[in-house]
Amino acid sequence: MREGIHPEYHQATVTCNCGNTFVTGSTNESIHVEICSKCHPFYTGQQKANQARGRVDKFNKKYGIQDK
Ligand SMILES: [Zn+2]
Repeated sequence: MREGIHPEYHQATVTCNCGNTFVTGSTNESIHVEICSKCHPFYTGQQKANQARGRVDKFNKKYGIQDK
């Protein structure tokens, strides 16, 4: 592998809107995200997940996609 043609890859601190921080590998030193595994609807509760599910159903209906 030649030197200098690849971006530097290092540990990045990811900060979420909910206040959670975690470390991941990235070419950026710090990343700010709006949602993470701690506050994602999938992890925080069924009620929010159901709301997201409703939006998917609406989308499918609009474009005539049958739910299998
Ligand atoms: Zn979060």
